[in-house]
Amino acid sequence: MRKLSTALAAAGLALSLAACGQSANGVGDGASKDGAKGGLVGIAMPTKSSERWINDGNNMVKEFQSKGYKTDLQYGDNVVENQVSQIENMITKGAKLLVVAAIDGSSLSDVLQKAADAHIPVISYDRLIRGTKNVDYYATFDNFKVGVLQGTYIADKLGLKDGKGPFNVELFAGSPDDNNAQFFFNGAMSVLKPYLDSKKLVVQSGQTAFNQVATLRWDGGVAQSRMDNLLSKSYTSAHVDAVLSPYDGISIGILSSLKGVGYGSAGKALPIVTGQDAELASVKSIIAGEQTQTVYKDTRELAKVAVQMGDAVLTGGKPETNDTTQYDNGAKVVPAYLLQPVSVDKDNYAKVLVDGGQYTADQLK
Ligand code: BGC
Repeated sequence: MRKLSTALAAAGLALSLAACGQSANGVGDGASKDGAKGGLVGIAMPTKSSERWINDGNNMVKEFQSKGYKTDLQYGDNVVENQVSQIENMITKGAKLLVVAAIDGSSLSDVLQKAADAHIPVISYDRLIRGTKNVDYYATFDNFKVGVLQGTYIADKLGLKDGKGPFNVELFAGSPDDNNAQFFFNGAMSVLKPYLDSKKLVVQSGQTAFNQVATLRWDGGVAQSRMDNLLSKSYTSAHVDAVLSPYDGISIGILSSLKGVGYGSAGKALPIVTGQDAELASVKSIIAGEQTQTVYKDTRELAKVAVQMGDAVLTGGKPETNDTTQYDNGAKVVPAYLLQPVSVDKDNYAKVLVDGGQYTADQLK
C-alpha cells in the first residue's frame, strides 16, 4: 500500500499542476466540470449474506464520503435482476461513477451500455465484469495467488514435498458465474495437480473438473449437501484427509457435513480444510481447531484502491494499476490493481487479524 499512497500523493500533485487528464471513458475533464467531484457514487454489492461484502460496502462509503462524494450503497441479495435494477436506478439518480461487485459477472452488459451512454465510468470491484468494454478499471486481489495459498497450505501440511502420501482430498470451487472462482481453482490446482498426477493425492469421488466441483452463488448449504454425498458414496471406509474449500462460508458447510458423520471425534481426525475471507465464524473455528486455514483479504485496502481509482477517473487523473495483462473480460483487457492476499491459520491469526486491526481479541473469544 505504501507504493499506492506515494502514487496517490504524486497523482494529487500532478492534478493540482495540470488537471488535464482523460479517463478511460473520456469523462475526465468534462465530468469534473459538470460536478463529478463530490457527485453521487453508486456502489452495487452482491449480498449481505457474507460479512466481507458488508465491510466492503461500508469501507467504500466511508472513503468516498471522506473525499466529499455522496454515495448510494445497494445489495442485490444474490439475485441478478435486483442488481441490474439497482444499477439502473443509480444511473437514473445521476450517479457520476459506478463501483460494482457483480453477482453474475456476465449479465451486466445491457445496463452498463446505459451507463456508458450517460458517460458514467465503471469500476469493477473484486470480481471482473465480463463481456463488455464498458468497464474502465478493476480493483481486486491477486486471485490466482489466493488459490496458490490454499493449495500450498494443503501440500505443506500433508508433507507432500517430503514424499508423504497417498492422501485423500476432495475439491470445491466457487460460483461458476464469478470470474474469480476459476482463478482461485486454477491457482490451487497449479500446486495440487502434480500430486494428483503422481497419485500422492487421490480424489476418491473422481470429481476434479471445475464444473463438477463448482458451488453456485458460493452457497454453504449447497456445499454441505455435496459433501454429504461425497462422504456417503466415496468415504464409507476411506478417510478424507484434506478438502480444498475456496471460501469460509463453504468451509463451514463442509465442516458441518464432516462432523455429522463423526469427523472431529473418537479418533477420526478432521481433514485440513482451507477457506477465504477470514470471516468471524471461520476464524473462531480455526482457533477451536476445526477449520484449518483461511485467506485474508483486507477489504479496507481494497476500498481505498477502488476509491482512489474512482476519484482519479472523475478528476481527470490516471488511476494506478499494476496488472494490465491478466484480466481479459472477453471484450477488453481491464487494467487492474491487485492487492496481496495472506494465508492465515492458528499460528498467525493473532498477528495478522488482531494486530492488523481486523478484529479485537474480544471478538474472537
Ligand atoms: C470473492 C471472495 C468471496 C467470494 C464469495 C469472491 O468473488 O473474491 O472473497 O469469498 O466471492 O463471496
